[in-house]
Amino acid sequence: MKHILMIGTGGTIASEMTEAGLTPELGGADFLQYVPAVRSLCHVDCLQVCNIDSTNMTPAIWLDVARAVQKNYARYDGFVICHGTDTMAYTASALSYLIQGSPKPIVLTGSQKPIHLDITDSKTNLLDSFTVACDGRIPGVSVVFGGVVILGTRARKTFSKSYGAFSSINYPILGVVQDGRLVPYITPPAAAAPRFYDHLDEKVSLLKLIPGTSPAQLAFLLSESDAVIIESYGVGGVPAGDQGAFYQRIRTAVREGKIIAVTTQVQNEGSDLSIYTVGHRLKSDLGVLESYDMTTESVVAKLMWALAQAGSSAAVSRLFYTPVAGDILCCP
Ligand code: ASP
Repeated sequence: MKHILMIGTGGTIASEMTEAGLTPELGGADFLQYVPAVRSLCHVDCLQVCNIDSTNMTPAIWLDVARAVQKNYARYDGFVICHGTDTMAYTASALSYLIQGSPKPIVLTGSQKPIHLDITDSKTNLLDSFTVACDGRIPGVSVVFGGVVILGTRARKTFSKSYGAFSSINYPILGVVQDGRLVPYITPPAAAAPRFYDHLDEKVSLLKLIPGTSPAQLAFLLSESDAVIIESYGVGGVPAGDQGAFYQRIRTAVREGKIIAVTTQVQNEGSDLSIYTVGHRLKSDLGVLESYDMTTESVVAKLMWALAQAGSSAAVSRLFYTPVAGDILCCP
């Protein structure tokens, strides 16, 4: 029988109803009792890293989760990480950079409804996740939710209430779980052994453009950050108005060694800064990084990881454009 380590972090799946609303209170062993079928699939040990609503997730806890996997890597055949759905896509991305090339499955899951309810998605999601972790044919970091398996760097929460809460962005799903069996469509490549990383630079910010965003808002974020991601419109660009004030701020910041990356608010198909005048100069003259088909969640985590590894803007740029765990298909 396979040995699987279940790592608890909280979320709805671990929540009980209190006077103040749903609060994560159950440990892994508590909610496994609701799904006895898991125990007939594999031997399970439980490890609690934290018990929080994932709204309270931080990069420091991502590092704790990665360390928990590293410390126990040799002893288990796979890992199931129970997590709140709200920031699961960020954690899946972060773990994809912190644990690269894993030949063993590292599955994130959670639920939209708590496990004590009669009607809940948590039991199916848990059982499906253990099925994928035991099967072993889909290595590396993935999200298993609503019957589908999604590559960690491609997951995004796209429904706030429905059971099929996650979508795979700009990438096919890796497989489905049907009647308790994994049907793999794509098996991501793995290395002989994983590479673990233990540092992140948290000073990464995100500016979502709206008509009227001021250059001063960008300047403020730049003053607080080592990297700012501008979530732009369509295929990408920044406003040209205000005597080019956005361009001036960007030019100065890049000269000072800050990283600026442009991504898009449009969920599907990614950026192409070469198309419009408002985007063209950003890359050709100003040294802005382009996110192409990466998700915003992955861009956030990749920059935190790359900034912690690299000693110069050029090195960050090289890492940014190097595909990791299937995060980017279309790069220069
Ligand atoms: N607020 C919860 C969380 O992300 C939602 C969930 O788990 O579905 O922790």
